[in-house]
Amino acid sequence: MNNKKFTNLISTCGRKILFVNHAAVLGGAELCLVDLAIAYRNASQILLFEEGPLQNRLSSLNILVKTIPAPGALLSVRTSSRLSGLAAFPALWWMGRRILEQSQGFDVIHANSQKAFAAAALSRWMGGPPVIWHLRDIITARHFSSLNRWLAITLANSQASKVFVNSNATAKAFIAAGGNADLVQVLHDGVSNVPFGEVKREQVLAIRAEIGISEKIPLIGCFSRLSYWKGQHILLEAIQDLPEVHVMFVGKALFGEEDYVNRLNELGASPKLSGRVHWMGFRSDVPVLMSACNIITHTSTEPEPFGRVIIEGQLARKPVIATAAGGAQELIEDGRTGRLVPPGNSNALRKVIEELLSCPAQAEEIACQGYNSASTGFSLDAHLKKFSAALGL
Ligand code: UDP
Repeated sequence: MNNKKFTNLISTCGRKILFVNHAAVLGGAELCLVDLAIAYRNASQILLFEEGPLQNRLSSLNILVKTIPAPGALLSVRTSSRLSGLAAFPALWWMGRRILEQSQGFDVIHANSQKAFAAAALSRWMGGPPVIWHLRDIITARHFSSLNRWLAITLANSQASKVFVNSNATAKAFIAAGGNADLVQVLHDGVSNVPFGEVKREQVLAIRAEIGISEKIPLIGCFSRLSYWKGQHILLEAIQDLPEVHVMFVGKALFGEEDYVNRLNELGASPKLSGRVHWMGFRSDVPVLMSACNIITHTSTEPEPFGRVIIEGQLARKPVIATAAGGAQELIEDGRTGRLVPPGNSNALRKVIEELLSCPAQAEEIACQGYNSASTGFSLDAHLKKFSAALGL
């Protein structure tokens, strides 16, 4: 891999970062980590708790990555479950020891996920280097059991040097759960616009050909792992009575949830929708796929901590419709840089889709303002500069 390809290399004056992430899937948190790992490739190593696509992606970029498989009790723990949280404690302790061993020679540990943070906080307690928790989840009762919230907040307040959060919404939830506000630094994620600028018209036509529809057919894109709270069913309900409209779902279930996938498949095969729903699975050509769409939707039924796909849709110069909750509200000014609809409301979503499709000039203006907002306010370069300053290395 040619190093000249990486324009974002950052100097840390010889000081070293150990990035730790428990999962090896390619979700939003992990894709943000890939950007950080590229920028700090000369002064860092990545530690994962399992093997998987993230490890392969990092290795293919020649980034130093090591996997220490965590005991199943830790990997399978559901953050919303009280009992499995207790049962996982010995495994967490074991992982804390491994992180302590691996952190020799590093100046700081950056924990990119909650499980990674809990283990890293224990390694700090055992005498390891300072730990920064990069919190990318909204800590609420819906997603975290009271025990897991208590553990995370107690460890954060006692062991974390800083807590980076990806939105004001994430910060607010952390503080409301008892987190120390003085630790918090808001660092909105950033996305590079380079791959979006490189998309060629032939590639867009190839996607339309792949799914078998002409350029004249309105195509709505939804880019997300398949999960109940990501609300793919809301989009299906919204287009049921819009017979011209096709939808493309890009992503797969990353954390189980096969029941939900079956339910989506059934809905997609129903008489009103059959032939208009295109399941693309997990893809690595998101900029091209987005460019082939007329509208990008983000349909989470729960507050989204950040929502990288919103920024990506804006960078693809498409009008983005997102739900008005959590961090999404920090990325879109309704009616100017995108559209916001109430979460879980398929009627409201249908109306906005109809509006944008029937008024191309309005859709184009929103896409243009969205692009300006994403490329100036949420650029990868700006994010890396803020990250570097916040890190204090
Ligand atoms: N994504 C991808 N391939 C897919 C589906 C999604 O690369 O098939 C990417 C998407 O482009 C975005 C990320 O996964 O960068 C999802 O991030 P987001 O913050 O929207 O959601 P999260 O996964 O963090 O819940």
